[in-house]
Amino acid sequence: MNELGDLYQQVILDHNRQPRNFHPLAGVARKAEGHNPLCGDRVTVYVDLDGERLRDISFEGSGCAISKASASMMTESLKGKTREEADRLFQTFHRLVTEEGAAGEGLGKLVVFSGVREFPVRVKCATLAWHTLRSALQGESAVASTE
Ligand code: ZN
Repeated sequence: MNELGDLYQQVILDHNRQPRNFHPLAGVARKAEGHNPLCGDRVTVYVDLDGERLRDISFEGSGCAISKASASMMTESLKGKTREEADRLFQTFHRLVTEEGAAGEGLGKLVVFSGVREFPVRVKCATLAWHTLRSALQGESAVASTE
């Protein structure tokens, strides 16, 4: 693996070992659960909305390093963003992990996940938290699934 690949892997392992915003949010109205049956990843995403802004966001769950690191980095990236900005980032992130050559502009550290597009099964791991966030923002109580 090249140097850049090693760096990317370190970022993911670091977030897997020490996930950020890894706790429930008490008393928030928005919450959704996601499940990726292919890998066994489970995630619960909590969002504290202040009008259109994501004042706080956190998650809980268990799963592989990719799913956990993705959820951790998603919460870091989206805290303080508006719903519209969050939605745009979701779309950019989704393109990054599914489309060959997608640049991931504006994603910051999240570009480390560009490597998963080589592994279609891993795409579901990387996008689980994002799909779950979308459910939480839409106020669906249903369980999100990447299937
Ligand atoms: Zn997984």
